[in-house]
Amino acid sequence: MPLIATRELGKVFRRGGEEIWALRDVTLAIEQGEFLAITGSSGSGKSTLLYILGLLDSPSSGEYFLEDKTTSNIADDERAMQRNKMMGFVFQSFHLLARASALRNVMMPLVYAANYGESIAATEQRERAEAALTRVGLADRMQHVPSELSGGQRQRVAIARALVNRPRIVFADEPTGNLDSKNGREILALFQELNSDGVTIAMVTHDPVIAELAKRRLVLRDGVIESDNAN
Ligand code: ADP
Ligand code: MG
Repeated sequence: MPLIATRELGKVFRRGGEEIWALRDVTLAIEQGEFLAITGSSGSGKSTLLYILGLLDSPSSGEYFLEDKTTSNIADDERAMQRNKMMGFVFQSFHLLARASALRNVMMPLVYAANYGESIAATEQRERAEAALTRVGLADRMQHVPSELSGGQRQRVAIARALVNRPRIVFADEPTGNLDSKNGREILALFQELNSDGVTIAMVTHDPVIAELAKRRLVLRDGVIESDNAN
């Protein structure tokens, strides 16, 4: 059973009188343990696909199966629960809480878990967040707020936050897009390390060098899968 499967996914955006099909007939499966790079030029539909797979948006047509179950009819709170329990997210612009320490930022998904019937004791929240921050190399920066951290360090905090709930899959949208090349390479190496430890990763990137390093590369063009190959 694939972790994720889609059948002929489509997404249309309407703006004014105009319809833009951001995705068309996207059929794909992602297995546990994969490292998938999603590439394609700007506007090809990469983010739209990632947001649908991450249950942050819904398709206009076709179907999306998470662990063989359709997601078509699930209610908003159930979607939020699936996101919290099964998924981690990393964005280009980090999306950290500016006033909260690295530790507090990483604890957030564990705090929210209480909304989905899984209360985690404060000491365990803290221990798990500390473990996640240690794993990404930030054991000595836990009490820093984002403005006291470099871009690469901020992205490490975001990765720790994505991992703290032990997700089945981590979605990343251009995670190196705001970093210089050295920090970008280090963040990529971290994702590779996590993948070797068994974390499934779907990463949007327009950087061909990064896409080469993933195990599998999906290329979108005008919302259609142009190619989908193992590297
Ligand atoms: P990429 O991430 O590959 O750059 P996107 O998935 O962001 O591409 O966008 C794909 C297409 O859908 C583009 O033509 C974009 O302008 C359009 N699009 C994306 N989001 C919206 C939106 N919320 N409203 C209208 N059009 C959108
Ligand atoms: Mg995008």
